[in-house]
Amino acid sequence: ARSGGACNHRFFDPAMNAAEQERLVLEHALHRALKQNEFVLHYQPQYDVPSGRIVGVEALLRWQPPGGERISPAAFIPLLEETGLIVPVGEWVLRTACLQALKWQQAAHPPIRVAVNLSAVQFRQAGLVQTVRRVLDETGLDRRCLELEITENIALHNEEAVISTLTQLRDMGIRLAIDDFGTGYSSLHYLQRFPVHKLKIDRSFVKDITDAKADRPIIKAIVSLARNLGLAVIAEGVETPQQEEFLRSCGCLEMQGYLFCHPLSSEDIENRNSVWQLA
Ligand code: C2E
Ligand code: CA
Ligand code: CA
Ligand code: CA
Repeated sequence: ARSGGACNHRFFDPAMNAAEQERLVLEHALHRALKQNEFVLHYQPQYDVPSGRIVGVEALLRWQPPGGERISPAAFIPLLEETGLIVPVGEWVLRTACLQALKWQQAAHPPIRVAVNLSAVQFRQAGLVQTVRRVLDETGLDRRCLELEITENIALHNEEAVISTLTQLRDMGIRLAIDDFGTGYSSLHYLQRFPVHKLKIDRSFVKDITDAKADRPIIKAIVSLARNLGLAVIAEGVETPQQEEFLRSCGCLEMQGYLFCHPLSSEDIENRNSVWQLA
């Protein structure tokens, strides 16, 4: 029912409202995007700030339709999820990111981890663990160099199945990070039960450090929670020296954000020396 033909057929249904039509056009374009390689990945470095060393990159999906404007993932990922297209697109992201990380390693750059976002829809796919294993085998990337970013909402259904999947991924040697930590449901309950390695403090908490100060105690609490549970911690969305300073003072030493580096194409990453080591 989701073939291009079906889309076109419904597209001309006069009863359909403008929003529905727009959605169908977009859905059709997303099918085409996958087939015709219109997606690319950009990579945003993650740093150990005191040493200035790059420790990883997060792979971020970009879509540039031919002749059109670039569309933000925030706008099209929900539709990929609704249509199930996130499964093949997500596999493409995983494979592309692994191949890129391997290429950088072979070019004698410092060994870095690549973090890949996994949507809850992908996470619930029965074949997820096999897909990840197959992509790692096929690309040959060291499993310890792959980090999967999941959000707390993966746990909304069937907690036992979630724990089993996470355990299988962890046992393969992959690292697991909870993305947007603190914005989901029941964070604290899951923390004890999920076999994850890292917490990624959501940008919304980091954002308020400078102006409101209201989120300072929350960041402090997340960092000490991570420490007490033996988990790594990273802050995303770091934009100002004040935010960096406060995070450092709390003991959150890994950071990602515009202050250090925007997401860049693989070519830009390769061509800028300052990406690999902060001044
Ligand atoms: P996210 O995983 O929380 O990714 C971080 C977002 O914050 C990225 O937006 C990044 O460009 C942006 N960002 C990084 N540093 C800063 C900063 O200092 N300030 C501000 N204001 N923003 C910053 P992007 O690339 O637009 O991605 C948006 C969301 O789309 C991601 O949020 C993630 O949830 C989703 N996404 C992106 N790529 C993928 C993918 O390959 N698979 C899946 N499932 N989701 C993806
Ligand atoms: Ca992420
Ligand atoms: Ca995030
Ligand atoms: Ca976020």
